Amino acid sequence: MSKRDYYDVLGVEKGASKEEIKKSYRKLARKYHPDVNKEEGASDKFKEAKEAYEVLSDEQKRAQYDQFGHAGAQGQGFGGFGGGAQDFGGFGDIFDMFFGGGGRTRDPNAPQQGADLQYTMVLDFEEAIFGKETDIHIPREETCDTCSGSGAKPGTKSQTCSHCSGSGQLNQEQNTPFGRVVNRRVCHHCNGTGKIIPEKCRTCSGAGTVKKNKKIHINIPAGIDEGQQIRVAGKGEPGKNGGPAGDLFVLIQIREHDFFIREGDHIFCELPLTFTQAALGDEVEVPTVHGKVKLKIPAGTQSGKTFRIKGKGVPNVRGRGQGDQHIKVKVMTPTQLTDRQKELLREFNDIGGNDLADEQEGNIFQRFKKAFKGD
Ligand SMILES: [Zn+2]
Ligand SMILES: [Zn+2]
Repeated sequence: MSKRDYYDVLGVEKGASKEEIKKSYRKLARKYHPDVNKEEGASDKFKEAKEAYEVLSDEQKRAQYDQFGHAGAQGQGFGGFGGGAQDFGGFGDIFDMFFGGGGRTRDPNAPQQGADLQYTMVLDFEEAIFGKETDIHIPREETCDTCSGSGAKPGTKSQTCSHCSGSGQLNQEQNTPFGRVVNRRVCHHCNGTGKIIPEKCRTCSGAGTVKKNKKIHINIPAGIDEGQQIRVAGKGEPGKNGGPAGDLFVLIQIREHDFFIREGDHIFCELPLTFTQAALGDEVEVPTVHGKVKLKIPAGTQSGKTFRIKGKGVPNVRGRGQGDQHIKVKVMTPTQLTDRQKELLREFNDIGGNDLADEQEGNIFQRFKKAFKGD
């Protein structure tokens, strides 16, 4: 079954603001929430809207979705959202978030998803065009092997914090001129974890995690561009209390090339020509990232003219064809002429060589003459 576009699902424009997206989602959630709507298919519609909202309400995920769509098949789970990883245990939580479930506090012992990580990768010009497979090493928090993440010394156990009864929060009552106010604070005895560890694990000092350099294999698709991100699902920081790991986002930067300039899937360059090549025509070899290509320069080529070599640009990262190479010629005026060369050029001038330009309709010399000689 093909997936519907997330913007279509929410019925908003591609450039919709966060507010519009939220508003539209609320409307759909109200209509299709399984507690409200018992019709067949309502819960699927709710799930679809929820998934779309989870992606479009998250700036990073939305940017990636805009670039790569649902194309989860490419490389490292490109844009492969929609996983149940962020499913906070059913419909309840999201509904409560929006419709005010009564200020329920999160159980500190509930599974929590690990943090996302971002890694910046600098690629050479060609590497981005052709793609590459590589390993990166990133420091990240790993579950401590000694205590399996409990933070307690092996053979001992953590205890429920007696001050907050494991909730991780303390109520503080205050008398004010307006009456009694109850403030809810993070329990400072257990730092909000709800647990006290009498004997801490020596490896991780009770944190339950240790920092390790983790090797991760990254598959960079051909045609990736500056500023795009590759999402590697589940390679972020580990989750807490058995929750899923976060994701790793690899942000791409590309080194400049001495000769080529890239714009999207197209490559641009300048090619110097001598004035005889430009006047008489020639066949020249032009470098492209795919190797040298022969280019025919017609006689009478003007400086600034652009030639296009089809298909010698960048493969589209989403598999939609291939860009071109655009070559702008620059006619070089000779600077160090020998006496003989000067003599030949004067002769060229004398036999009317420089009148040739006048024959062309609407050319720059005619316009120049008109403007400054008043004819
Ligand atoms: Zn406590
Ligand atoms: Zn430990």
